[in-house]
Amino acid sequence: MKLTFLGGAGEYGRSCFLLEHDHGALLIDCGVMKKKGSFINTYPTLTPSIAKRVSHVLVTHAHEDHTLSLPYLKKLGFTGTVLATSQTIEQTIEYFSKWRQKVETEGDTLPYEKEDEEGLSFEALDDKCTNFWISLTDTVSIMYGRSGHTIGSLWYAVQVDGKTVFFSGDYSLESTLLNYEWPKIGAKPDLAVMDGAYGDFNVTQDTLLEQVMIKLHYALEKRDRVLLQVPLVGKSQELLAAVKHRLLMKGADQIVVEKALYEASKNFGKHSDWLVDHTTAAFFDSLGNGGVTVADSPNEVANGSIGFFTAETLVEKDDWKHDRSTHIISPGPENQELKRMAEVTSIAYSKVMLKVHPGKDETEALLSRLMPKRTVFTHGVRKDVEALVGALHSRTRFLTGEVGVTVEV
Ligand SMILES: [Zn+2]
Ligand SMILES: [Zn+2]
Repeated sequence: MKLTFLGGAGEYGRSCFLLEHDHGALLIDCGVMKKKGSFINTYPTLTPSIAKRVSHVLVTHAHEDHTLSLPYLKKLGFTGTVLATSQTIEQTIEYFSKWRQKVETEGDTLPYEKEDEEGLSFEALDDKCTNFWISLTDTVSIMYGRSGHTIGSLWYAVQVDGKTVFFSGDYSLESTLLNYEWPKIGAKPDLAVMDGAYGDFNVTQDTLLEQVMIKLHYALEKRDRVLLQVPLVGKSQELLAAVKHRLLMKGADQIVVEKALYEASKNFGKHSDWLVDHTTAAFFDSLGNGGVTVADSPNEVANGSIGFFTAETLVEKDDWKHDRSTHIISPGPENQELKRMAEVTSIAYSKVMLKVHPGKDETEALLSRLMPKRTVFTHGVRKDVEALVGALHSRTRFLTGEVGVTVEV
């Protein structure tokens, strides 16, 4: 086999890895670079010849940087099958239309047509069939398991002619919301392609959550009005569950959640088997008729209460900036416009951290289970990856991944 990085190595975004073997070719993920750039930096370095040779794309999860070049691949002549969990397929199709809207609103054109989005043939992987070897073709077997990053997110192992390559996907061993399944591959991978997004950052998720809770507790004690700036899916639900479990008893009057966030969170109630604690599903299921109030605007959040809102809504409905008791807390990704608004009006603003990628100890733990012969880090810029490699004690040979680099397996 040989593995070529078409994107997502030595950089953060547009993950796309080409795995070629004597009998054909596969892709693992096919994403875009989300931050605005030229065409050449936004999409992976795909060609019509690659697109026609690939029989399957294994998609780890729905995030833009792993899926949004699929229609472009189709446009270039791909006629194969896209494999992912049913949850990932559902989310990916939503991301397609959001991306189309965003690009068109910005006055740019997409390098593919709507028919290419609709013409992709998806096949759902059974999420009960994890940690089993499954024959993909006569010569290729795959295995997958939950990766703790989103509902529906997977790691993959691919085996061809007795050689094994492991792809970690974006993963978290410490998510307090989503569960992780340790890979039971049964052989030491010849190559592990790992998530190196956070470099050598090494604070546990529990500590980070505790830091958030201290900040919230302090603000609530002053009877501030706390507005948490969160994305629609991801950290939002982990924080929501954590606030419910850890903080409510410490004196928040009310938890208020933006309508769209409420809808996205309710969805977590339907997927209890993806959650660390199955009882959390019941909490998400009962949102709205429990301790959580649904609101359209952050202005409905009273003093001594916590509101969960997206950056877009906080920027659009900005009456909060006239109230000095407001405290904005951002677990990231930060929104520069929101940050500036708070700065100009002297509203308290603080950034907190919550992980959705592995820290150094998580990387070490996974590597010591897998014991890969060679390891390459992706999803991070070179400086961060080098810091991580420098901090690790794992007995594996580290290779450097960059776009265009090919590794023989
Ligand atoms: Zn992701
Ligand atoms: Zn990613």
